Amino acid sequence: MARHRRYVSRGGRRETGKLVLLVVLLLVLVAAATLVAAVLGGGSGLAWISVLASLLGAALLFADRIRTRRGGEEIAAARRLGAEPGEERSNAAEAADPDAGVVVVDERPRYHVRTCEWLGEAETLPLELGEARELGFTPCARCAPNATIAAESGRSR
Ligand SMILES: [Zn+2]
Repeated sequence: MARHRRYVSRGGRRETGKLVLLVVLLLVLVAAATLVAAVLGGGSGLAWISVLASLLGAALLFADRIRTRRGGEEIAAARRLGAEPGEERSNAAEAADPDAGVVVVDERPRYHVRTCEWLGEAETLPLELGEARELGFTPCARCAPNATIAAESGRSR
């Protein structure tokens, strides 16, 4: 039923970031311990384990850096949209047809009519009005989807 993520879903990304740091810390500890053991015991096998653990840690950090940067680009794209418009204040919510089409932008809290000027070139997801409400989206004050849809269905009757 819920095909779209709620707009608040950044938590997971932060949690995995912490996990990666923990794993890297462990690898560094393993690398340091095996290096000390290799120096004390003179075994070259242990030294190789140390090198491998260090390389793995570095690779993990690098991969996480790239992933984090991608997340940053997503946020930057969302920011290009400008400040979130306020919430529509109208008493048309009940009169608006819940099956009417609206659009939302992933991770943003408002739903809009397709022609909303605030959307610009942003990538939008089509939803039904009722569905958007169930997912916790609220109407945009700029395009006033409730009033617009209510007026349209009134005209077609
Ligand atoms: Zn709008």
